[in-house]
Amino acid sequence: MRRNRCAKVVATLGPASSSPEKIKELYMAGADVFRLNFSHGTYEDHKARFDAIRALEAEVGRPIGILQDLQGPKIRIGTLQGGKRTITAGDTVTFALGETAGETEIPLPHPEIFEAIAIGHYLLIDDGRLKLRVTSCLAEKIEAEVIYGGPLSDHKGVNLPDTVVNLSPLTKKDRADLDYGLSLGVDWVALSFVQRPGDMLEARELVGDKAGLMAKIEKPTALDNIDDIIRLSDAIMVARGDLGVEIPSEDVPGRQKELVKKCRLAGKPVLVATQMLDSMTKAPAPTRAEASDVATAIYDGADAVMLSAESAAGDYPVEAVSFMDRMIARTEGDKAYRSIITALEPSVEPTVQHAVSAAASSVAAMIGAKAILAYTMSGSTGSRIARMRPEVPIIVASPDLNIVRRMVLLWGAHPIQHEEISSFREMVERARNHVVDEGFCERNDRAVVVAGVPFGVRGSTNNLRVIEV
Ligand code: PGA
Ligand code: MN
Repeated sequence: MRRNRCAKVVATLGPASSSPEKIKELYMAGADVFRLNFSHGTYEDHKARFDAIRALEAEVGRPIGILQDLQGPKIRIGTLQGGKRTITAGDTVTFALGETAGETEIPLPHPEIFEAIAIGHYLLIDDGRLKLRVTSCLAEKIEAEVIYGGPLSDHKGVNLPDTVVNLSPLTKKDRADLDYGLSLGVDWVALSFVQRPGDMLEARELVGDKAGLMAKIEKPTALDNIDDIIRLSDAIMVARGDLGVEIPSEDVPGRQKELVKKCRLAGKPVLVATQMLDSMTKAPAPTRAEASDVATAIYDGADAVMLSAESAAGDYPVEAVSFMDRMIARTEGDKAYRSIITALEPSVEPTVQHAVSAAASSVAAMIGAKAILAYTMSGSTGSRIARMRPEVPIIVASPDLNIVRRMVLLWGAHPIQHEEISSFREMVERARNHVVDEGFCERNDRAVVVAGVPFGVRGSTNNLRVIEV
């Protein structure tokens, strides 16, 4: 089984997509990586989904990526008396420290906010639907004027774009969830509300090399530190949901372009997320604007695009995945695509690994090879080739199943697990079988093989060989 596109689809699982049958339908429709959203659901829910994905993997004989998304220090209001109320523009309302508060007050169970907030700061609630400006702040009370009002209910999310709140990127819940995710064996861990490079170091201590570490970019402070955050991450998510509340929506497309470009130059996978096909939660077809949004992410050069509520809680999860699959294939097949995607040429660092990986892409194009086959221990050869965005598929072969699964997220990658290789001759022989077995080459077709000799040594990419079937 191979996909007929290079960019990947990440689908969030949830109540609308939890049965093994539904998960299989989503996979068949085009989902390459499944996201377990630890902001919702119980451990039993996540484990059932995890097990269903691994069973499906065995059934279809293809690696499938699993991304654990940690909630992070998401700020929420507490429990309102009566469960809901409406606030009106022009009114002044009071936030009180605690999980519950007086009848007319809005509870806010985060002392860090009361320490850091100041008069004039904005408070945004429920994805920015409600907007308030702080008019006075005391140790345990904040008064704010309502600018945009509306209905308010328990535990709605709060964004504070002006306030630098001193919160660790990993809450107690995140640490427990992370332990649990790693014990299941997730392939990627996404860290929410990253602000500082130190946040990545803190998470790396816990994750080690058990999973790839993804930084979700959804805070202005992360944008200020972006180069260091990318350097310390294995992948990046452009988390437009919260980002579009924390910075003006009109700034998001430009930041998306910049983040995708930076990641590609760094050779790190980048995932564009949130509201891509939002209307498909309630309709079987997207809006024209949504189709265009997915295409834009693909023209930008993103490794992957993501579905959240569309696949987790919507009425048309399979249709949403299937539309993305077609939209990506159509965009990549468009005549403008190649020139746009190759306009950005990552500079090749003067090392043997980089030079050989970059050469694989140009040799493949020049001789009309049908595939590039990269033998890699850590996956880094695969990423180095993928950032050149070659015109042919990249078969990323590793003996390490964890790496194989992680590489599913990578643009253009068709990861496979192979048995350890001990000699160059063996490699060439195996390569012929791989490119044919995986359906990329027929008789007389050529493929470019990249490997490191001696085998089994990380970062030793130094060989490029053209094989003919
Ligand atoms: P979330 O992250 O769905 O966990 O909030 C993505 C985003 O903010 O875009
Ligand atoms: Mn978010």
